[in-house]
Amino acid sequence: MQHPGMQTVRRTSQQQRLAADLCVVGSGAAGLSAALEARALGQSVVIVDAAPQLGGQAVNSAIGTICGLYANGPSPGRVTHGVMDPLLAEMTANGQATARRARNTLIVDYAINGWMRWVERQILDTDVMPVTGAVLRGVERQDRRITALQLATRWGDMVIEAESFVDASGDAVLSWLAGLPLNQSDTDIHGTIMAVFEGVDTDIVNEMPRETYHAAMRARGAEFGLVRHDGFLFPQAEAGKVLANMTHIETPQDPVGLARAGMKGRAQVDGLLALFKAEFPEAFGNARVATYGQPGIRQTRTIQGRSRITVEGVRAGHRPDDAIARCSWPIELHTEMADTHWEVFGDDHMHWIPFGAMVPEGLDNVVTAGRCIDAEPAALASVRVMGPCFAMGRAAANAAAQVGAGSFHQIDVAALQAAVADNLSLTKDDPWTAGFVSERGREADGA
Ligand SMILES: Cc1cc2nc3c(=O)[nH]c(=O)nc-3n(C[C@H](O)[C@H](O)[C@H](O)COP(=O)(O)OP(=O)(O)OC[C@H]3O[C@@H](n4cnc5c(N)ncnc54)[C@H](O)[C@@H]3O)c2cc1C
Repeated sequence: MQHPGMQTVRRTSQQQRLAADLCVVGSGAAGLSAALEARALGQSVVIVDAAPQLGGQAVNSAIGTICGLYANGPSPGRVTHGVMDPLLAEMTANGQATARRARNTLIVDYAINGWMRWVERQILDTDVMPVTGAVLRGVERQDRRITALQLATRWGDMVIEAESFVDASGDAVLSWLAGLPLNQSDTDIHGTIMAVFEGVDTDIVNEMPRETYHAAMRARGAEFGLVRHDGFLFPQAEAGKVLANMTHIETPQDPVGLARAGMKGRAQVDGLLALFKAEFPEAFGNARVATYGQPGIRQTRTIQGRSRITVEGVRAGHRPDDAIARCSWPIELHTEMADTHWEVFGDDHMHWIPFGAMVPEGLDNVVTAGRCIDAEPAALASVRVMGPCFAMGRAAANAAAQVGAGSFHQIDVAALQAAVADNLSLTKDDPWTAGFVSERGREADGA
C-alpha cells in the first residue's frame, strides 16, 4: 500500500459565499419544517445551524415527544399537517413513533435517531443546502431588509445572501443582531438536561404511577443532588430504554454560565439514576445512562412583532383574523425549580397563532418561527412545543414563497391561510390517527 504524501496548505482570506431564495437559521422543529416546505414550493433554500448536526433540540436535546399536535378531548383530531405527515407516516411504519394520552390530548413518542436520519434524508433528497457548525454572528442590513448573514465556521467565515430569511434560532438571533429591541421573561424559565436510561425493566416502569417516583424525588431528592420533584419517564421504542425529563437548570445567555448549568444538569441526571436504583432496584438495578441530551432551553429572547400572543388570548381561545396555526397544549411553565405549573384546557379548547406574532416590527424580509415569536412568557409556554413549531415553519415557508422582494408586513393573509388551510380546520376523522391510537390501546390519561 502506498502511504499518503504531504502538501503545504496556507490560510487564505477568501470568504465562502452562498446565495439562495430563502435562508433558514435554525434546524429545530420550526426551521426544519420551514426549509422543507419552502423547498417543496420551489424555493432554493439554505438551512444553517450552529450545531454540528441538524435537528435542533428535537434531536440534540433528546426531547423525544411531540406535543401540541392534537386537539383535546376523548378522541382528538390532529391539528398540524404538512411536512409532519410524511415524518409521522414513516416513523409510525418503522415502529419509531407511537401516541399515548396525556394532558387531555395525545402526545407522540418518537425515536430520536429515527428523527435525525429522516431529517438528513429529506435534506439530501430535496437538495436543501445544509450548513452546520456555522454560528451566525452578524447581519448585513439595508434599511429594513437583511441582505446577508455573516457566519463563523471551523473552516473560516461564510456569507449567505438571500431574498428572505426565517429566524428559527429559538433566540431571535436575526432580530438581535440587527439591533432590534427584543422581549424576555423577567424570571428564568428553566431548561432541562434530558437523559435516556438503558437496561431498565420498562414493564415495571410502565405500570408505575408517576406519583410513586415523584414521592421518592420529594422525600430523598436533596440527598441525591436533585432540585426538581416532578417530571416524566417515557418508555422508548427500543427495548429497555426510558427517556427522563426530570431535571431543571437555569439557562443563562452566556457561554460560561450555560456550560456550567449543563454540567450541573448532568450531575442531576446521575443523582436521579442513583436515587432510582436505591428506591426501585427491580426496575433500575441494571440501568445506566445511555444519552445525556444537550442543554434543553425552553425560552429566552422573543421578537417584538406586529402582534403578541397573550395569556388571556390563549385562555379565551380567541381566533385572530390572521391565524396561521393552532394548538390546545396546556400552559406548561417552568419557573420553579421543584415543580412545573400546568394549566390544562378543556375538550373543545383551541388557541391560535397569528401571523403578526411571527413578523418583527423593524424588518421587512425576516419572519420568525418557533420558540422566539412574540408571546407573553406564559403564553409561549404553550405554543413553543413542537406541533405548533412545525405549523409556524409551514406558514413561514408559504409566506416566503409569496413575499418575493416585498415585505412580510404586506402578506396576503387570506392566500396564506388558504395555503395552510388544513392547519386551521379540524379533521376529527384523520384515519392515520385512528389506527395509531387504537394500536397503542392505552386510553387512560398518562400525565
Ligand atoms: C427540556 C425540554 C423538553 C421539552 N419537551 C417537549 C416535548 O416533550 N414535546 C414538545 O413538543 N416540545 C417540548 N419542548 C419544547 C420544544 O422542544 C422546543 O420549544 C422546540 O424544540 C423549539 O423548536 P425551535 O425550532 O423553535 O428551536 P430549537 O429546536 O431550539 O432550534 C434552534 C436552532 O437554532 C440554532 N441556533 C441558535 N442560534 C444560532 C446562531 N447564532 N447561529 C446558528 N444557529 C443558531 C440552534 O443551534 C438550534 O439548533 C421541550 C423543550 C425543552 C427545552
